[in-house]
Amino acid sequence: MDLNAIYTELIMEHSTSKHNKRNLDNPDIKEKGHNPSCGDEITLELKLNNGVIEDLAFTGQGCAISQASTSIMIDLIKGKNIKEALKLTETFIGMIKREIKDDEELYALEDAMAFKNISNMPARVKCAVLAWHTLKEALEK
Ligand SMILES: [Zn+2]
Repeated sequence: MDLNAIYTELIMEHSTSKHNKRNLDNPDIKEKGHNPSCGDEITLELKLNNGVIEDLAFTGQGCAISQASTSIMIDLIKGKNIKEALKLTETFIGMIKREIKDDEELYALEDAMAFKNISNMPARVKCAVLAWHTLKEALEK
């Protein structure tokens, strides 16, 4: 199995996984994200504790790419502090825009590296970055 096949499987798995799809009790931050070009709509909920993202989850609907990207992002970001989370968000967006040439910089993204080749499918790029833009907006408030 080549790496692309593993990545495709990972995306498919996360697109139907419900383990990050729920509402939090009393979230500290709630942020909506919308991608009109595809119809993806998500709401992220975050719980912070001393600058650490203690818990986060999402609700909403959209295509497989947007759902998978949100779920994989949540797995990666949970337990990180705000600064680390923003850095990872920047790295992910940099990867999709192909601004990061050094693969080693991408390793920090772990499973989210599965979206690297999405930049070959311009119509899907907005689906893949929706959750990350939404997280960035939430954390910068
Ligand atoms: Zn989409």
